[in-house]
Amino acid sequence: MVSESTPLRSVLGGRTAGPLAASRGLRSVGDLLGFWPRRYRSRESDLAEAKAGRYLVAVAEVKTATTNRMRNGRSMLKVVITDGTTDLSMVFFSVFGHERALQPGVRGIFAGTVTSFNRELQLTHPGYTVLDEIDSGERSDLIPIYLHVPRMHTWKVTESVRLVLDALTDMPDDLPPDLVARHHLVTRLEAFRGIHTPKALSEVERARHRLRYEEALVLQLALAQRRARARAEVTTARTPRPDGILAAFDERLPFELTHGQQVVGEDIAADLAASTPMHRLLQGEVGSGKTVVALRAMLAVVDSGGQAALLAPTEVLAAQHHRTMTAMLGDLASGGYLGGDDRATRVTLLTGSQSAAERRAALRDIESGEAGIVVGTHALIQDAVTFHDLALVVVDEQHRFGVEQRDALRGKALSPPHVLVMTATPIPRTVAMTVFGDLEVSTLRELPAGRAPIETFVIPDLLPGWLERVWQRIGAEVAAGHQVFVVCPRIHDDAPPDPGTELWTEPPDEDGLDLDNLGDGGDEGKGGPGGGAGAAGTAAPQPAQRPLRSVESVAAELRAHPALTGVRLGILHGALPSVDKDAVMDAFARGDLDVLVATTVIEVGVDVPKATFMVVMDADRFGVSQLHQLRGRVGRGGLPGTCALVTGSDSPMVRERLEAVKSSTDGFVLARLDLDQRREGDILGATQHGRRTQLEFLHILEHEDLIEAARADARALVDEDPELARLPRLAAAVAARVDADQAAYLERG
Ligand code: ADP
Ligand code: MG
Repeated sequence: MVSESTPLRSVLGGRTAGPLAASRGLRSVGDLLGFWPRRYRSRESDLAEAKAGRYLVAVAEVKTATTNRMRNGRSMLKVVITDGTTDLSMVFFSVFGHERALQPGVRGIFAGTVTSFNRELQLTHPGYTVLDEIDSGERSDLIPIYLHVPRMHTWKVTESVRLVLDALTDMPDDLPPDLVARHHLVTRLEAFRGIHTPKALSEVERARHRLRYEEALVLQLALAQRRARARAEVTTARTPRPDGILAAFDERLPFELTHGQQVVGEDIAADLAASTPMHRLLQGEVGSGKTVVALRAMLAVVDSGGQAALLAPTEVLAAQHHRTMTAMLGDLASGGYLGGDDRATRVTLLTGSQSAAERRAALRDIESGEAGIVVGTHALIQDAVTFHDLALVVVDEQHRFGVEQRDALRGKALSPPHVLVMTATPIPRTVAMTVFGDLEVSTLRELPAGRAPIETFVIPDLLPGWLERVWQRIGAEVAAGHQVFVVCPRIHDDAPPDPGTELWTEPPDEDGLDLDNLGDGGDEGKGGPGGGAGAAGTAAPQPAQRPLRSVESVAAELRAHPALTGVRLGILHGALPSVDKDAVMDAFARGDLDVLVATTVIEVGVDVPKATFMVVMDADRFGVSQLHQLRGRVGRGGLPGTCALVTGSDSPMVRERLEAVKSSTDGFVLARLDLDQRREGDILGATQHGRRTQLEFLHILEHEDLIEAARADARALVDEDPELARLPRLAAAVAARVDADQAAYLERG
């Protein structure tokens, strides 16, 4: 009996199974069935696509075949094939067998790498199969094209898949029958047939729809289970005292909360007052005032005798949060000190770079409960840190932390803490539903009043005069008493790009399963989804470019510039010791530096009211959302901000991206554009600790309705049967997905 777990070897024999296992890791029947065709060719496909160096697969007819005797006495067969419009020559230096098979009029599929000989394109010893052999009886107009399997021709793969499909006797459906019926899905077996041996495109589409739904459902089930487990947890409800520190803080706030801040604040207060732990995502533009919202939540739990921890992605940010929170609280942060307000608490910083003495003191405050608010980097997650009563965990800039890190900090609480995750990268709804499906989402849409708009310019760095004007402008800003950021993609000229830089690269323009590519003679040998080399984005071929600007070389150039004499200039990047980073950041924030040349370490959260001008060098190398966040650093103090995006690229796609950043200040629009231009794996990857996902059919931005339906189905299934005991195959798929995610995370460290 053949089932999905049957070894391929026993169905196909070792000679065929060998190469499939060796090059693509396909060992079982199920593996081979999951080896989706990259695209389909119609029978009328075109030899005109032949290009030297390209692997060509073409259906054609033999036009002429001539055997010539060469000087060495051996024979050579020259065959001309045609698709009706274009001819292509093929040569065989051993005629045996071919002479008889390739008679004029014979139709076949021909495959091989095209070479150029005497300026004429040809195929030398191509593989081929005469069509009527594999085709008898079952005539289809679509030929599936698979990723190249070394030592195997594509039709051999087709044939193997057919064999396996015919031999399959046992293929139960993973999905419950009522869902299959409700969504008009084909069965699992029909889906595999439709993908691998379609008779028409509509069949492929139905198959893809089914597989897509299944992918969405598995994702949503994993999230629904996570959510259900979270909802079953019980924790201590935290309610502020009417005359406590939160009330005292609200009285002193120098501004009115925006409407959004009030609404979100009420939602959070209600969450905290419940005995189920909060799991909430707070998203809002840079400068929308998330920090105040978080601080008010933290004060609410301090009022109830608990502690709050704020987890920041970098030391600079942790230090800044510590500074701003301490400043905002004023004497409310002087808890434990003589003469302090008796409602006061203490804000304690814990980072990896502190001295042993500082660290000991911090750990003591955290353990005794003296510190109501603890701000730190991932140093907070370490074993040595013990909280007195951790009630709330706030994670700033979620995309830099994984679910696992959140969990590690949660583990330090007596009862499960409430969790608030903050991000300035707006997340489209469907991504939120997929990546953060276990979180409730709150959004701050408006910016606090009085925020001056930021004007953005794209500056081509192709003519020397343009950059000169930018340097002049820096001088003018400084002369006016303002401050300037200059952001570069790397530290020094021999350094690789800074790790904080997203390093946007143009995605390779191939998409394996796209039906629009029907008949496209792309390179079968190249990687792609599930393939090795060309995995998303990273291996995209780059045109020759001028070297990326670096912090050190730009700083040197500015120091030497006549327009900038006397300007106080500092540099900031990830390779500096953290004490130095803090010192530089402090000096800039205090106004003791005029210009800060930096990598993206300044990206998130840094608040310098007098900063009015930002220059981003090699702006084309940054993600659209990242640029939007970067420029949010200027124009924060009521002074209008300006951002110059400098690029040495004249690629139209680059231009389009930068023009979009220029013309839109809507973070949602830009995030959407960013995601549109990335590949699916990168979306999840960027949002969730860089793991590579294996979504093959589901496009998170496109299939909103499907994701929504799958989410509702998943929640219903989990409500009824939390561990999916009645759906063991689906449960196994969910477990495999969770394992793969975890493994990818651990691998990354
Ligand atoms: P985010 O963290 O969302 O980027 P912040 O919380 O750092 O934004 O707020 C940006 C600036 O706006 C801070 O200086 C903050 O004090 C100020 N701010 C926050 N809320 C308001 C408000 N309602 N009215 C005026 N200013 C505000
Ligand atoms: Mg912030």
